[in-house]
Amino acid sequence: MKDKLEQIKEEAIAQIQAADVPEKLNEVRVKFLGKKGELTAVLKGMKDVAPEDRPKVGQLVNETRAAIENVLEESKTMMEKVLREAKLKAEVIDVTLPSKKNTVGHRHPNTIALEEVERIFVGMGYEVVEGPEVEYDLYNFEKLNIPADHPAKDEQDTFYINKDIVLRTQTSPVQARVMEQGKLPIRMIAPGRVFRYDEVDATHSPSFHQIEGLVIDKNISFADLKGTLEVFAKELFGPETKTKFRPHHFPFTEPSAEVDVSCFKCGGKGCRFCKGSGWIEILGCGMVHPHVLEMCGIDPEEYSGFAFGVGLERIALLKYEIDDMRLLYENDIRFLKQF
Ligand SMILES: [Zn+2]
Repeated sequence: MKDKLEQIKEEAIAQIQAADVPEKLNEVRVKFLGKKGELTAVLKGMKDVAPEDRPKVGQLVNETRAAIENVLEESKTMMEKVLREAKLKAEVIDVTLPSKKNTVGHRHPNTIALEEVERIFVGMGYEVVEGPEVEYDLYNFEKLNIPADHPAKDEQDTFYINKDIVLRTQTSPVQARVMEQGKLPIRMIAPGRVFRYDEVDATHSPSFHQIEGLVIDKNISFADLKGTLEVFAKELFGPETKTKFRPHHFPFTEPSAEVDVSCFKCGGKGCRFCKGSGWIEILGCGMVHPHVLEMCGIDPEEYSGFAFGVGLERIALLKYEIDDMRLLYENDIRFLKQF
């Protein structure tokens, strides 16, 4: 009996030592110590042992069980330790590795210029208003005093969705929409994207941006218009900037003017930038045509106002001395990063 127990113990230990994963250890435990295990079988054979020998055999069985359990436990602890170390090694963080670069975007020159213009006008008490880019012909043309036979309505210049709906060719329809609401006085700018049937070149694009301005109140005169735009030009291009108003024609304003600013590169002496003239054209403006006021439900006997429109790209190109408008749309990050 003693030899038998010794044999079981040796076999169990040999199998434990051969085990490489915890699951195998469990198999060994079941095989030798389980209900149907080899050691249990020995206990079941006790009935054949002489009664006086039973305590001794019982003790031997217990000792064998304890010995096997000890080795099992030790092996298990050892195995877990090795596994834990392997896991730690696998999950280690190398703090010397270069980090992934988080590239943060950059404001577009158009956005920078727009925010600058908005800052100036909001500072003078203007509200920023937006309107739809897909617009009714009625708002884009008719309410702005542009009759059906006007060249601007030509399909050569305008993207028509159908005969009543266009991609707006200017931000002016926002003026008509605000005037129609009838809340007076009005002091607003309307920045936004506009569309015209243009070939792409250094100064043209089928899609570009305008900023429209409108003031309607009692006793608004051309002097208010001149003063406002002078402040705007000085804020935008520097305190030395001079303005010049040249008579012009727009259907929705009367009288109308185009505004030049003195060249901020040469101060008006004439250079390559201003093509030698000393002046740079920046916007169109005028007193809102009484007919436009009427069509939008405002009494031209009681109210008057002025409007102006400036190209956002024009300002960005001038301010940052960019000589090709296409650069603003290509979104080459090497170019945009400069501003
Ligand atoms: Zn110049």
